[in-house]
Amino acid sequence: MKSILLALGIMMNTQPIKIVTVDSSSKEVLATKTEDIQEGELYLANEISDQLMASLKPYLPAAGLAAPQIGISKSMFIYSYDRDPSHLETVINPQWSPISEERIEGWEGCFSVLLSNGVWQLASIPRYDKIKVKYTNLEGKTIEKELDGFGAKVFQHECDHLEGLVCIYRTDAAIKSFDSKEALQEFLKEVKKNDSKNYQSPK
Ligand SMILES: [Zn+2]
Repeated sequence: MKSILLALGIMMNTQPIKIVTVDSSSKEVLATKTEDIQEGELYLANEISDQLMASLKPYLPAAGLAAPQIGISKSMFIYSYDRDPSHLETVINPQWSPISEERIEGWEGCFSVLLSNGVWQLASIPRYDKIKVKYTNLEGKTIEKELDGFGAKVFQHECDHLEGLVCIYRTDAAIKSFDSKEALQEFLKEVKKNDSKNYQSPK
């Protein structure tokens, strides 16, 4: 199955796109509110989804990637509620709202920061622990579900990207800066260990 998918990827010429970082010349796209995918644009959403998957592939397992991070200002992203690549899902035109007021504060990394040349920062952000989400999937179907824990946090992080907001620039973020990429990666390893206690399959 994998080799068939791989062959299809080559046929469709889906090449990974370099991830836009907060210090790159094209960073403007990261600060721009995205446009919704229109009803007749599902073919486009499928292409963008393939490009997101191909671009994230070198960094798997990973939590997610939003279209602006590959320079495409459209309202869609891919995410996995537990970083498992087999749980990566494509989300189009998402909306979300909190189910309860409870928020959990935790460290967040972002490829647009982690892959930069020298902005070695993580953000600690209070995120709603339980949210209701609504979005369109790749078949054009409306999906409604509840997310909690890590999945809820990732969904909120990716939705921020569609609003033109990178986590380290949120006004409620506490920032931790590191002297080197290695020091950041080391800290992130510990963060991921703690995250793993908070993986819950969506209802
Ligand atoms: Zn991000």
